[in-house]
Amino acid sequence: MAKLFQLPKGTRDILPDEQPYWMQLDQVIREITQIYGYEPLSLPIFEDTALYKRGVGEATDIVEKEMYTFSDKADNSITLRPEFTAGVVRSYIQHGMASWPTPVKLWNTGPVFRYERPQAGRFRQFHQFNAEAIGEQDPALDFEIMDMAWQLYDRLQFQNLSFQLNSIGCPDCRPGYLKVLKSYYKKYFDSICDDCRNRLDKNPLRLLDCKQDRCQPVIEKAPAIYDHLCEACAGHFNKLREYLNAADLTFTLNHCLVRGLDYYTKTVFEVWAEGVGSQNAVCGGGRYDGLVELLGGKPTPAVGFAAGLDRTVMIMQNKKQDRLKIDPSVYFACQHAEARKQAIIYVKQLRERNISCLMGLGERSFKAQFREADRRNVRYVVIIGDAELESRTVILKKMETGEQKSLNADQLIRHLDREPGF
Ligand SMILES: [Zn+2]
Ligand SMILES: [Zn+2]
Repeated sequence: MAKLFQLPKGTRDILPDEQPYWMQLDQVIREITQIYGYEPLSLPIFEDTALYKRGVGEATDIVEKEMYTFSDKADNSITLRPEFTAGVVRSYIQHGMASWPTPVKLWNTGPVFRYERPQAGRFRQFHQFNAEAIGEQDPALDFEIMDMAWQLYDRLQFQNLSFQLNSIGCPDCRPGYLKVLKSYYKKYFDSICDDCRNRLDKNPLRLLDCKQDRCQPVIEKAPAIYDHLCEACAGHFNKLREYLNAADLTFTLNHCLVRGLDYYTKTVFEVWAEGVGSQNAVCGGGRYDGLVELLGGKPTPAVGFAAGLDRTVMIMQNKKQDRLKIDPSVYFACQHAEARKQAIIYVKQLRERNISCLMGLGERSFKAQFREADRRNVRYVVIIGDAELESRTVILKKMETGEQKSLNADQLIRHLDREPGF
């Protein structure tokens, strides 16, 4: 017997039943990006591996463990994108967008790839919506990005939205804080997990984001970076909080929110929503003032966020009671091949008028065709039997009520074109 192929681990097929949610999400993304003045940018799915090593950071989980990296036939090291921002910045520099009106505001959407342990709502190929605003230091832009993320979930009718907010400082103030953090952690060296012992030297900020139970009490009492900011970072953070308060966007200061990427500076945030389970975050982002320079451009501040769309759709599906599916309107049931010739013409005319139609195919009995129409949830069945063929009429049946009407060709088209109450 032939081998049955299965999906690669951590990937999935998005079946037709789920697609209406994706379409709805897509539509909301298009709406809000337009309203907020963000322009679409499409990027390749793979880039030079070095871009991510440099941009995302060597000591991050993504670069250390999660990238899909391979050599192509010319021996170039290629990586499937594990996130969007590094690619957006590469494109910003390559196309000289620094000369465009500032800030340059861009969005993208599509699959990203991370070799992670698959779990509910988490895949190795997953989808992100990503927005970036490049070239401006003003905290009003941090506010705009956060407001847009909020707006996305508000329009999708997610309940009880709130922000988790932190500032992780800049190269001026962070080293001082890390010293404080490390000396605090050294007191607890015996009680923290092995990973954290490693992080202590390698990437101390990530100590705060450890998920191990044994590390939680240590994290809880750890010194907060927002108490150790330089004047510029503190001023920026205060302004942002003022704006959020003024706009009535709820936020909670969270000193352990550090995000898993090296490039963040100052603002980091997540959007939390009700009914999202143990991981409340639906999206996250922050400011990355050093990244453009790190990737070879002029020093350029920037801020952005990414939303995980697979999880978003999962939540949309869970909370949506009514069926979010567009059913076909009309099904043509034909008694014989001669009737089908007639049906083909009607179907063509109706489709030209944007009415979705199906017809019974093959050698199915009338009864089988009715069963199919029922399963497909159509609103009307058009019946063309021998008698109708003879009299050049059809029978139009409204499925909801069972009402029937005999109509000629013109009447049928006009009826369905107007979607009558019948
Ligand atoms: Zn600072
Ligand atoms: Zn730990």
